Amino acid sequence: MIKITLPDGSVREYEKGTTGLQVAQSISEGLARNVLAAEINGEIWDATRPINNDSAIKLLTWNDQGGKSTFWHSSAHLMAEALEALYPGIKLGIGPAIETGFYYDIDFGDHQFSSDDFEKVEKKMIELAKTKEEFKRSDVSKADAINYFTEKGDQYKLELIDGLEDGSITFYEQGNFTDLCRGPHIPNTGFVKAAKLMSVAGAYWRGDEKNKQLTRIYAVTFPKASELSDYLTLLEEAKKRDHRKLGKELELFTFSEKVGAGLPLWLPKGAALRERLVQFLSKAQVKAGYEQVITPHIAQKELYITSGHYEKYGKDSFQPIRTPNEDEEFLLKPMNCPHHCEIYRSKPRSYKDLPVRYAEFGTVYRYEQSGELHGLTRVRGFTQDDAHLFCRPDQVKEEFEKVIDLVLHVFNALGFEEYTAQVSLRDPENKDKYIGSDENWQKAEAAIIEAAAEKGLKTVVELGEAAFYGPKLDFMVKDALGRKWQLGTIQVDYNLPERFQLEYTGSDNQKHRPVMIHRAPFGSMERFVAVLIEHCAGNFPLWLTPEQYIILPISEKYADYAKKLSEELNISDIRGLIDNRDEKIGKKIRDAEIKKIPFMLIVGEKEQEENTVSVRKHGAGDLGSLSIDQFIEIIKKETAI
Ligand SMILES: [Zn+2]
Ligand SMILES: [Zn+2]
Repeated sequence: MIKITLPDGSVREYEKGTTGLQVAQSISEGLARNVLAAEINGEIWDATRPINNDSAIKLLTWNDQGGKSTFWHSSAHLMAEALEALYPGIKLGIGPAIETGFYYDIDFGDHQFSSDDFEKVEKKMIELAKTKEEFKRSDVSKADAINYFTEKGDQYKLELIDGLEDGSITFYEQGNFTDLCRGPHIPNTGFVKAAKLMSVAGAYWRGDEKNKQLTRIYAVTFPKASELSDYLTLLEEAKKRDHRKLGKELELFTFSEKVGAGLPLWLPKGAALRERLVQFLSKAQVKAGYEQVITPHIAQKELYITSGHYEKYGKDSFQPIRTPNEDEEFLLKPMNCPHHCEIYRSKPRSYKDLPVRYAEFGTVYRYEQSGELHGLTRVRGFTQDDAHLFCRPDQVKEEFEKVIDLVLHVFNALGFEEYTAQVSLRDPENKDKYIGSDENWQKAEAAIIEAAAEKGLKTVVELGEAAFYGPKLDFMVKDALGRKWQLGTIQVDYNLPERFQLEYTGSDNQKHRPVMIHRAPFGSMERFVAVLIEHCAGNFPLWLTPEQYIILPISEKYADYAKKLSEELNISDIRGLIDNRDEKIGKKIRDAEIKKIPFMLIVGEKEQEENTVSVRKHGAGDLGSLSIDQFIEIIKKETAI
């Protein structure tokens, strides 16, 4: 008999050679029907693979990331089986699961595989899935593996086998299809109820452009047909909200090939919106005791050698800039922290001076491969809403609480209602991997957990997820489409104070090291604005939106009245514009709707005579006729944050 420990800590005995699926059956039939894989001592296994030793087990279903990726990788085998049946003689590359779905790289020979082929493949996949073919794992000697794929004539698999060690090779077989694979897989193909091929692209074998270009087929599958239709609806909505599309339509930002890839250019409306975000956070930071600092965009290479960033990023990032005469080397700033450490060092500090909080909207530059760049979310130059707090170890908890308050203030003002926080702690088994004293780590970890609890945050604790230099708290927000984004990080750091030899004089008159906390509620201005655009579909909160109103005169006869109104609104600090084009009012209204301007003020003869405006609210319709003071009142109420 072997002992199996379940996630709740309970221990049960089973026959040696029992499987995850059998463990599930012993718990409930319902669970057994949904088990896709089993995590055995932290490693994902087939649910049908025999367990021969005492083990900790977690059964994985569609709701677990590990269950999902096993499902999708198994679907890649299913798709390959369908493709082989439909296009005999194709050769297969690799077929991994990805974040949403999976792909398979295929050499189709002479056939030009295109989206016209998709439906046929989807049908075949479901037809094969209905026969509930079992995934069978087998150990194969290297010689047998080579024989099998030589006979099949699949040079790509042979190349892969070449790099594997004899004794470590496994095959997986389902129906008429056998693949070289490490696994794991779901019990049988019957779990797959819906399949959709999403796109095709060219992909060089092993990512090397000297190799042949294969056809990469991206696809996704689901255990329920309804989940596929929900997914497609979500994709449709996400497309409409894509920040790259809305950013262009709303004239917020642009890119120029001449300026360079990954270097966003903020247009006047986008820059004004960003500036309002900066003002909003700056104001809250001043209240919370932060001091603004400003540091340059480049610094001597030595600074980053001291900070350790050069060792970590140097070779893989922008290369040093040299001065012509002195031959000095400067780097584009990848992080603001080293600069702030030097500011801290600029004068002696006493325990009474702490905490010191330095904030900077600091622009940093990091090299990203051109293929990785994406709108405002992956760029090469971006501005962090950065701050570094230097405090005593006994102040960590209070500082964390204050930063949490600030982060929640941001989420509230911008309409992010659903969020969780992840606390990343040390791996308790490997304490020597981390820098800083055991005592300080214990204190800081307890402080973060307590601070999060006192602020009522929904948290998950992840052991072993801390950086080597300190524990952290990350905020995950759910946007309006239910997608998760990581925004806002608070991170303890014992490393930089050590590297920069930062000190303060304690009440004991001895020198001590301060604790450093990095924090950025937005993360970066670029990424935050991208997430915000997609979250609110471009309908920004009224306090933030580029134009709060647009005045639509029915004809040019009312242009003067419109001008007078806009002047009055301007005095009240309400921003907007006038549409004086010689267009029909219907067209003016439609155009204003596209621009997502929150209030339309329609003015004609009646309004001019009665000194009123006829108000339409975006997404809400007619508010009727209001005096200008009444309108100002509405705006003031809605923009209070
Ligand atoms: Zn596989
Ligand atoms: Zn930092």
